[in-house]
Amino acid sequence: MVNKGVHIIDLPKKIIVGHGVVNNIAGIIKELDLGNRAYIITGPHVKKIIAEDVADILSNDDISVELGIINSTEVSEVDAIKDDVSRYEPSVLIGLGGGKAIDAAKYVSSKLSKPFISIPTAASHDGVASPFASIRGLGKVTSVRALPPTAIIADIEVISKAPKRLFRAGAGDLIGKFTAVLDWHLAHKLKGEYYGDYAASLALLSAKHVISFSNIISRGGPEAVRIVIEGLISASVAMCIAGSTRPASGSEHLFSHALDVVAKYPALHGEQVAIGTIMMSYLHGKNWKMIKKIIKKVGLPTTARELGVQDVKVIEALTIAHKIRPERYTILGETGLTWEAAEKLAKSTGIIE
Ligand code: ZN
Repeated sequence: MVNKGVHIIDLPKKIIVGHGVVNNIAGIIKELDLGNRAYIITGPHVKKIIAEDVADILSNDDISVELGIINSTEVSEVDAIKDDVSRYEPSVLIGLGGGKAIDAAKYVSSKLSKPFISIPTAASHDGVASPFASIRGLGKVTSVRALPPTAIIADIEVISKAPKRLFRAGAGDLIGKFTAVLDWHLAHKLKGEYYGDYAASLALLSAKHVISFSNIISRGGPEAVRIVIEGLISASVAMCIAGSTRPASGSEHLFSHALDVVAKYPALHGEQVAIGTIMMSYLHGKNWKMIKKIIKKVGLPTTARELGVQDVKVIEALTIAHKIRPERYTILGETGLTWEAAEKLAKSTGIIE
């Protein structure tokens, strides 16, 4: 969003979902006119499994390739990759991996104004296609604005090979849209914040998708992976349309970010968001029991113990969640929860004992 009344929407140009679609990467680059110099940002593990194959496919099709390895999204490491990318001067960047490689590619592409292609190897959160990047060390735990990927290539065959825990976490991130949208609407009503019905409905649809297909998701396999990755891409598009993370991130995300602060990234993002969603839907007066049931059914943790954190950390996170992003008004209000209220909330929803 820029001037009053002007709303600019940047969207991915192409989204390709299917079995073996990554094999067509060279064709996609040509079709989108993205030149013949690619720089792939990937992780050390993914490099051996798939990135080298992708590099071969590209060079066989006369696209020169450079591989950059990233171990974390610490800003110092991402900046080092950025310098390497600058030297190589690619026509297109490719983020190939789980969250980290894609976040790094997104950030670098935005800084250097280069188009980028997102190739997720896991369906663990909606960052795979959103215009926001999570980079550590920038002084905040939330994401920073970047550009959406020019193309998203979601290869079901590749993503199906990732551990089950990852796509379950992706389902957790999607369920979080229930409370994210409620918080957004609340901020609209109480603070006059911009609210986009279409973006909100789209985000909500991705959460409802998880409920409708919870049987399939609980079984796992390629069909489950497809449902989750399609939901995550839809939620990302909702963020592109809204021009902010609002439709996808509310108090449940603030709780997850707060838990990252107090317990140092104890579990997967989507697992923490799912726990947050149970508690925040309780505060919103919604059917939190149904949400908890679905979360349990798809195989996600529903207690602090299952999440691997001490009860006290959950309470602590609840009490500081409102401070994570003060400009983001949610059901937690401006002053947040007292220790007693937080403890009661976590106990009433069965998150802690
Ligand atoms: Zn998320």
